[in-house]
Amino acid sequence: MFQTTNPATGQPGEALPIDDEAAIEAKLAAADKAWRKWRLTPADERAALLARIADAFEHERERLARIAVCEMGKTYKSALAEVDKCAAGLRHYAEHGPAMLEPVTIATADGTPARALWRPMGPVLAIMPWNFPYWQVVRFLAPTLLGGNVGLLKHASITQGCAQAIVEMVDKAGAPAGLFQNLAVKSQAVEAILADDRIVAATLTGSEGAGAKVAEATGRLLKKVVLELGGSDPFIVMPSADLDEAAKVAAKARIQNAGQSCICAKRMIIHTDVYDAFLERFEAAMRAVTIGDPMDDVDMGPLSSFEQRDTVVDQVAKAQAEGARLLFGAEQPPMPGAYLTPGILVDVPRDAPTAQEELFGPVAMLFRAADIDDAIALANDVPFGLGSSVWTQDAGERERFERDIAAGMIAVNRMLASIPEAPFGGIKRSGHGRELGPWGLHEFLNLTAVLG
Ligand code: NAP
Repeated sequence: MFQTTNPATGQPGEALPIDDEAAIEAKLAAADKAWRKWRLTPADERAALLARIADAFEHERERLARIAVCEMGKTYKSALAEVDKCAAGLRHYAEHGPAMLEPVTIATADGTPARALWRPMGPVLAIMPWNFPYWQVVRFLAPTLLGGNVGLLKHASITQGCAQAIVEMVDKAGAPAGLFQNLAVKSQAVEAILADDRIVAATLTGSEGAGAKVAEATGRLLKKVVLELGGSDPFIVMPSADLDEAAKVAAKARIQNAGQSCICAKRMIIHTDVYDAFLERFEAAMRAVTIGDPMDDVDMGPLSSFEQRDTVVDQVAKAQAEGARLLFGAEQPPMPGAYLTPGILVDVPRDAPTAQEELFGPVAMLFRAADIDDAIALANDVPFGLGSSVWTQDAGERERFERDIAAGMIAVNRMLASIPEAPFGGIKRSGHGRELGPWGLHEFLNLTAVLG
């Protein structure tokens, strides 16, 4: 059984069964059977299904939100926003997706008629994390179904209730049997599932470690894989920035989802001329963060699990041992759950191992940059390259950031967020491939050239 613990209370949640070999086989067979029919359906029919799944999410938004709160501790209001975002993402693909599947006409030098067709490939396995337990799945699910593929989900062990709920929404929308199923398995079962001939490709959102394992297995099998992995996103503030706004947004970008988002701003890189002025404002904003029962109107609930909190506490202690100074916070308040207060680490030595790691909790690292070259060098001096946020009113500086920041996404004078229209993904150890927009839809399609 999957046994979860409510991270806000420490109390056990409902125990949910794990699929045995026979159940896994039945689901793989059902996926394969469903795909053979689904690939032949017109794009408009698939789009209509996505719109009905969006309706189902909207009708059940409170129930879905409560499941996420109990399983991984996000605030109820952010869980509602996540469910709404899922509905919007599904509607985006329902409305704009069919046009993205239109054949591409190719101009040829010798006049040979040529086209490229977007054809589906088959059942795709999605290995997903707990931090946005609905949105991470939907941003795979919507393009997968629209493209004529079918989906199998291996969700995080702690969010199996969310996984079941998503399957319920798809079924409620009238999807044919086998179109989208939850494989209730632990990570040890993944390799054998990937090796099954009926699985044609995989996508994983999660840590570097899990990404490397799945990349290794899919590499051996020569199956396509998209990897959305960790990040240690820089948040760069230059002297021309609106400091009040930058500091307010920096705090929000660090503590969103209790600091457990891949695109949280994790390293604040501040130009030396405004370092003290920014820090004063940022500290005030971080100290003002409210923590409590995630069902209440608070900024932050607990971390997703006691293990996750211990990991962050250990990382902060390690950073201190390496020479960083904890300005305040990163404390475990006297509450029963996996709570941790927001904190700020300053004077982190640039060559400290912790400066290279992802801090997946509400603790920011602050760095002082001498000039724009130094800021860019610091930003790029990590193994990750997911997102970034840059704050400047200077057009020349903006150009430099757009040209030189080694990341898949750059937000200018705003907090980075995923939106259905724009590509989402990273480079370096943050993974490869893209989700969302036409790019995410096309990742798992067989782009077929037709000549003549
Ligand atoms: P995780 O431990 O890597 O788990 C992610 C998923 O991979 C879970 O379903 C997990 O299953 C599975 N998994 C773990 N080890 C595996 C293995 N050896 N083989 C196959 N599957 C395996 O990550 P997490 O702690 O849930 O999520 C946090 C990480 O995800 C952070 O690094 C964060 O930055 C990253 N993330 C990235 C993005 C992005 O879009 N780039 C978005 C969100 C999160 P179990 O739960 O059963 O172990």
